[in-house]
Amino acid sequence: MNPATRGPVIAVTNQKGGVGKTTTAVNLAAALARKGKRTLLIDLDPQAHSSISFLEAAEIDQSIYDALIEAQVGLADVTYQGSVEGLLVAPARIGLAKLEIKLSGEFDGHYRLRDKLAVVAGDYDFVVIDTPPTLGLLTINALVASTHVIVPIQSSYLALEGTDDLLDTIQRVRQRVNQDLELLGVLVTMLDRRTVLGRDVVAQVREVFGDKVFKTIITRNVRLEESPAYKEAIFTHAPASSGAAQYAELGEEVLARV
Ligand code: ADP
Ligand code: MG
Repeated sequence: MNPATRGPVIAVTNQKGGVGKTTTAVNLAAALARKGKRTLLIDLDPQAHSSISFLEAAEIDQSIYDALIEAQVGLADVTYQGSVEGLLVAPARIGLAKLEIKLSGEFDGHYRLRDKLAVVAGDYDFVVIDTPPTLGLLTINALVASTHVIVPIQSSYLALEGTDDLLDTIQRVRQRVNQDLELLGVLVTMLDRRTVLGRDVVAQVREVFGDKVFKTIITRNVRLEESPAYKEAIFTHAPASSGAAQYAELGEEVLARV
């Protein structure tokens, strides 16, 4: 696939769970759509949290699993309208977990998403991919298909633990199959500015990643936790919240960086 013919494809990834991947994928995709960008959010996590942030499970007929496994099913067949105009969602279902096994013996197992995206490249200005908390085949599919990676890092004790493995994986994908893949930025999430630990983590992340760290920092905000229950992104659920302001700012920063 020639990257010149496709808009940015951004994988939101970190093999640690609970660091803000899904919250970031959902609200960044919504922020871009609100800026008038035709945006596709792809859920590659079998836990399907970003899917159910917008859709009822019962609404989901075909899912990303079908597109990745069936030659004749395209991404357009598995996309649903999200709660924001201009945002489409390709949802996951729990059965997606089986894909790791099903595709592990296939020679093109790592390329499935990339191939499906190539067909719809012109239909979207941005694609945002939410990934599971592993470095397995689903995450590799995301990295192979992407032009950019955003790594959320939760402001907590041992925040940077595991990032070496992640950077190593990104580097190997870049060397072997996707030389266009670029680290777009590292996003500090769930910061509590009142704590010394929080401030230490920000300093530590800046020391390791330098100007790759987004200027935008996502602080702890209970509104971000609530909004999936209402099937809404933060911008309509709590427009005046710090979470809405910060994810809008992240959207601006992403637009400036790509
Ligand atoms: P991951 O996808 O990496 O597992 P999530 O985005 O699901 O992480 O976040 C883990 C939990 O923390 C979820 O319950 C989510 O609602 C909550 N959360 C995420 N970001 C924030 C934040 N900035 N403030 C408060 N809670 C947050
Ligand atoms: Mg998640």
